[in-house]
Amino acid sequence: MDYNKLAELLFPNIDKTPEDYELLYPAREKGIVITRLGPSPTGFIHLGNLYGAFVDERLAHQVAKSDRADAKTGSSGIFYLRIEDTDDKRFVEGAVETVINSLKFFDISFDEGATLPGPGEEYGTAESGNYGPYFQSKRGPIYRAFAKRLVSRGKAYPCFLTEEELADIRSQQEADKCTTGIYGKYAEKNRNLSYEEIETNINAGKSYVIRMKSHGDTSYFKLIDGIRGEISMPGNNQDTIILKANGIPTYHFAHVIDDHLMRTTHVVRGEEWLMSLPVHVELFEKLGFPMPTYCHTAVLMKIDEETGNKRKLSKRKDPELSLDYYRNEGYHPQAVKEYLLTILNSNFEEWRAENPDADIDDFNFTTEKMSSAGALFDLNKLNDISKDVLLKIPAEDLADFLVEWAREFKPNILPLLEDRSYLTKILDLGRDEAKPRKDFICAKQMWDFISYFFDEYFVIQDRIPEQVSDEDAKEILKRYLDTYDHSDDQSAWFDKIRSITEELGYAVKPKDYKKHPEEYKGSVAHVSTVIRIALMGRGQSPDVWSIQQILGEDRLRARISELIG
Ligand code: GLU
Repeated sequence: MDYNKLAELLFPNIDKTPEDYELLYPAREKGIVITRLGPSPTGFIHLGNLYGAFVDERLAHQVAKSDRADAKTGSSGIFYLRIEDTDDKRFVEGAVETVINSLKFFDISFDEGATLPGPGEEYGTAESGNYGPYFQSKRGPIYRAFAKRLVSRGKAYPCFLTEEELADIRSQQEADKCTTGIYGKYAEKNRNLSYEEIETNINAGKSYVIRMKSHGDTSYFKLIDGIRGEISMPGNNQDTIILKANGIPTYHFAHVIDDHLMRTTHVVRGEEWLMSLPVHVELFEKLGFPMPTYCHTAVLMKIDEETGNKRKLSKRKDPELSLDYYRNEGYHPQAVKEYLLTILNSNFEEWRAENPDADIDDFNFTTEKMSSAGALFDLNKLNDISKDVLLKIPAEDLADFLVEWAREFKPNILPLLEDRSYLTKILDLGRDEAKPRKDFICAKQMWDFISYFFDEYFVIQDRIPEQVSDEDAKEILKRYLDTYDHSDDQSAWFDKIRSITEELGYAVKPKDYKKHPEEYKGSVAHVSTVIRIALMGRGQSPDVWSIQQILGEDRLRARISELIG
């Protein structure tokens, strides 16, 4: 068979050669790390994408500690965005924007590749960099040029098997309990078609795909995965499809061509791709491309609340899988990043304990320290980390963050937040004490915690303690208001509460009440709770005196007067 002639028959319009493309996309600067994110534009961006993107970003941008002194000299690598949009059924309008904006929120940005489209800019054209197009849907001629080369070398062939024939082969294989797919004797018929037969089929308008002609060698090969270390797997023997009947490449082919031509050095992707690795290794070999370093990340798992067992995070059951969740709830990106690092690198927490104030980017991230056995995601742990992270953020910045969150997710409270100095004081409350207040987790919950500072949102949520009768509650508040002096310092203020406590028959020391409950109605704690509820609407809050100083005398008097009527 004259394979060159066959290649011309199948790809008459392809005149560029692989060599042309090699010249067009020259090798990049030696020694730099090139990584990429290759999302499909489905509009759903999840924690796994962020997890992978984070690894990509760190690998490309992290300058090894020893090189840090000359970090400015450009030893940093390149992280680019490639849109894998070969499957137009999954396409969702605005998906590229979603990817870019969602990751930007977490401080992850790309150096190259697809970009945000400008006004009126057509889909698939907004990009930057010299290795594009960065949209697979625009790379058709490139894939075909390489497929043409494989055909011309006898390494790929057209296959005319129909849906029915494929189904028959499959059921036969299942009945014989052998591996399904097109390989060995199942591939023979189409592998061995003559030029004339192929030409006749094509002229008759028969549909066909292009399959690679596998070497069929299933002996084990070895490879070093950046995360998993040495991997040993049986070689591929399937005549895998490289171009579908509509001329569009399969993931396998597009991956190999794109990552080669865009000069990717590290392919970070989910472990679900591990089983196709033998196909990719064979394709790299057949095309004569050097192999990148694969880094197969572990699947994100969680402990199922009902069963207590580990399971994969699920789109249907776990809202926390979607990145939108973190934005809606108002998690601070720094907290999510910090948490991701704890699940990404087993030595991160130890490093953090030793370097509590260091910039997160100073941590030396390595793929070797990544778990290959399912990373466990735990919202409670994220919340704990978030509390620590938020405590370190200055109140002014926290106020900005809350306002930005509100702008997007709770715009009706924006006018209330305009008084920035009031808001900052509120957020700073109780933070510079020896045992600082550490209960802020995310913007939504922060707002919930502080909303009583704003009259429009002030509601009595809790009930007064059962030790205090309604008449006593009123009396406590009346006396409190009568004796209140806004200029009292904390101890003068508390002395007055003590007096009220005593006068009304409550114990000034809670332990006296505990010891002799028959002698008192309750204790100073119950009296204080009544005041708390009157002022804040809730029985628990940071220090009341400090809150009053922020609330101001007018608001305080108005709230209590309203209650005592
Ligand atoms: N488009 C593929 C996906 O969304 C990318 C896999 C890869 O990174 O190679 O799963």
